[in-house]
Amino acid sequence: MKDIKDLTLDELKSEMMRLGETVYRAEQIFGWLYKKSVSRFGDMTNLGRSLQEKLTRGFSIGSLELVGLFRSKDRTEKYLFRLHDGPCIESVLISAGGRKTVCVSTQVGCKFGCAFCASGLNGFIRNLTAAEIAGQVVFLKESLERATTNVVFMGMGEPLDNCGNLDKAMSILHSPKGLSIAARRMTVSTAGIVPGMEHFTKLGLQVNLSISLHAATDALRNSLMPVNKKYPLEKVIAAGEDYLRRGGRKITLEYVLIKGINDSTADAEGLAPIAKRLRSKINVIPYSPVIGLPFEVPDKKRILNFLKTIEDKNVSVTLRQSKGCDILAACGQLAGRINR
Ligand code: SAH
Repeated sequence: MKDIKDLTLDELKSEMMRLGETVYRAEQIFGWLYKKSVSRFGDMTNLGRSLQEKLTRGFSIGSLELVGLFRSKDRTEKYLFRLHDGPCIESVLISAGGRKTVCVSTQVGCKFGCAFCASGLNGFIRNLTAAEIAGQVVFLKESLERATTNVVFMGMGEPLDNCGNLDKAMSILHSPKGLSIAARRMTVSTAGIVPGMEHFTKLGLQVNLSISLHAATDALRNSLMPVNKKYPLEKVIAAGEDYLRRGGRKITLEYVLIKGINDSTADAEGLAPIAKRLRSKINVIPYSPVIGLPFEVPDKKRILNFLKTIEDKNVSVTLRQSKGCDILAACGQLAGRINR
């Protein structure tokens, strides 16, 4: 049976027309699903018995099954969900001031095999559906009440390798009848999947874009991110420039800093011209340890030197403090494992 939560509001309107109902019904159903968190059609009291029965015959109302909840010393929370067909995914809730950010997964596993990341270590299993992507935020809705909510598509997987379902999930999250999350409060992060970036540009949303750069030369990027062999730096940068030209909101460059690998002064100097072309800020993320990988985080002095070299080139740079490291919830540590 089809999960009704896999439909955007527009798709649900079409379904209503197909069932001989008015499109207004779709808005009512959306309200029940996302504002009132109702999980049975029978409880949607203003729909009338006959529509309730049609819906019950035609659709299920899916939800994620929580199988683990881990709390970090720094208040970060990691949610482990089991999907209906068995595999697990993770979502992270990060609190800072009055703001809460949900870090959402878009795939089970990952195809792209970045050398420093846990998410691709066991390969790729499948795309998440729109219902499963949006469902992670829906599940946390209660915890988000009264806080400004941001959604970052930076969990397991590559969002721009699952564009169709990502688009639908963003629509459900954004819709005033859904979760009412403003586009500018959402950020899609990509390893630089050029066709996905082109697709994202065409959507013309005011959603932010992050590019996981991690290296300023093709030689180094090829060794850290095999996807660079398919979509080399120049193509990724050109796709970013095109996004900006067509009214894209802003780009952040993410840079995982790994000891002795990409943390030299020359590496920092190489980043500046790229950031200037993309009018972007650089977000430096000290490497978070991943079990089984040989990398290390640079010492404090080296990190500061890296930041200063970039600043001296008049490029704005921030240091992202890793959150949730003690519960393996930091960037690149999500692997959807139950036993660790
Ligand atoms: N596939 C997308 C979405 C994942 S976002 C992307 O690559 O952008 C997760 C971010 O954490 C990416 O920037 C990723 O490169 C980074 N990351 C991966 N492993 C990491 C690690 N061990 N330490 C710190 N950051 C890491």
